[in-house]
Amino acid sequence: MPIVDGKYKANNKEPRVPANEVPADIRSKNFEPVDTGYTTENAVEEANRCLDCKKPFCVQGCPVGINIPEFIRHIREEDMAAGLATVRESNMLPSVCGRVCPQENQCEGSCILNKTGDDPIAIGQLERFLGDMTPSIGKAPVCKPKNGKKVAVIGSGPSGIACAGELAREGFDVTVFEAFQTGGGVLTYGIPEFRLPKEIVKREIDGLKDLGVTFEYDAVAGRLYDADDFFGELGFDALYLAVGAGLPKFLNVPGENLPGVFCANEYLTRVNLMKANLFPEYDTPTKHGKNVVVFGGGNVAMDAARTALRLGADTVTLAYRRTEKEMPARIAELHHAKEEGVRILELVSPLEFLAGDDGFVQKVRLEKMELGEPDESGRRRPVRIPDSEFELDCDVAITAIGTNANPFASMAAPVNLNEWGYIETDEDGRTSNPRVWAGGDIVTGAATVILAMGAGKKAAASMTKALLDA
Ligand code: FAD
Ligand code: SF4
Repeated sequence: MPIVDGKYKANNKEPRVPANEVPADIRSKNFEPVDTGYTTENAVEEANRCLDCKKPFCVQGCPVGINIPEFIRHIREEDMAAGLATVRESNMLPSVCGRVCPQENQCEGSCILNKTGDDPIAIGQLERFLGDMTPSIGKAPVCKPKNGKKVAVIGSGPSGIACAGELAREGFDVTVFEAFQTGGGVLTYGIPEFRLPKEIVKREIDGLKDLGVTFEYDAVAGRLYDADDFFGELGFDALYLAVGAGLPKFLNVPGENLPGVFCANEYLTRVNLMKANLFPEYDTPTKHGKNVVVFGGGNVAMDAARTALRLGADTVTLAYRRTEKEMPARIAELHHAKEEGVRILELVSPLEFLAGDDGFVQKVRLEKMELGEPDESGRRRPVRIPDSEFELDCDVAITAIGTNANPFASMAAPVNLNEWGYIETDEDGRTSNPRVWAGGDIVTGAATVILAMGAGKKAAASMTKALLDA
């Protein structure tokens, strides 16, 4: 620890300790983690850059208010167990959030060092460093004695996991009903292994089981069980709906139904959940394209493009109707994708997919766009350029242009929906149905892991109050 005149003096003028990344030409050929994480030496060195602010802006930027300077102080003092305990007070999934949260817009974006012209502290890397030590130094949280109340959580994504964990600690009897054969939601079926190893998600789910949470897989609420079952025969006192926003949007252009044209959800689910990259060792195959074109500019598009590269594509083109500057993807994801060889084709929009003699997609016809006036989102609207059509070879096309609300939500329990099909709630996640709470993407629309978790935590607090004060 840097000490001057007996006092801690931050090394904030030192550059940020860089991430330990596998070189692009090696990592683009396998599904191993791109970033291998900080060593203890790296973490302590980075922690020594923190000013330990009295008024920490980083905490204001964190959606769940982690005491960031405190956990960084513990790393500096090399008391990792205390650091991990501090993080876990506010965030049950530090290994996940440290890897996938958009820190540049949250804690790191708010770090005071941005204002002094220094590199912001690598808070995500430090959070992940501590989270990854859970198996060796983490302490299981203590649960209150059973309170006799039963809650069903529908969906095992980050929102459901956060809610279930909080409720279990409060002494509730919690069962998570999950449509898929395994838990984690998008953390398992959407975000690829090279960004978020599945063993980490499994470890977190196992941690919940240790707290007494029961998981029922292959259980589609709204089909297998409805509100009458949950509140009747199954004997639950309340429901938390966390079914996500997994219904893909489509381009609605001719040829979109051709074999070889996938939506990103299906493409990523085949590889991440069903292990299509290991076919025939696993049962589910997928098409390995030579020339792959991905439509979209968000994290999902980046994940699909980088997955296609790892499945052996010769060329992967990311076609986007605005410019790189307007892409909603995390800067790091775009940077990694480009480093690995994904080509960015700006200002284009697809018109039609064309089949070859074998009936499979062979080409896509596109038109060029230019940027016009800003739209409701504040981004400049893409406007078509007449007579600018051209064709691109493409034997696999993947659309990643967003998702809609999961329509099963209201089948599981009657609740008020807004005009786009998302569940209406108050700030604490209460729906129009007094026994039902909801949160995560099914309330906000597609958002982030940490916001989904924050909603789960808030709802758990509200349920605890409502059920125990009743
Ligand atoms: P989900 O994670 O979608 O989980 C919902 C769960 O409910 C699913 O497991 C589903 O199978 C289950 N379910 C649905 N219907 C039923 C039913 N009827 N009965 C039982 N179970 C049901 N966010 C970030 O912060 N950083 C990132 O880098 C990032 N990358 C992403 C990459 C991809 C490919 C995708 C798709 C999203 C990404 N996101 C990222 C967004 C983030 O993952 C979501 O905002 C978050 O997972 C939402 O959590 P959730 O719990 O609300 O829903
Ligand atoms: Fe450290 Fe930055 Fe937070 Fe200040 S704002 S405590 S420098 S991480």
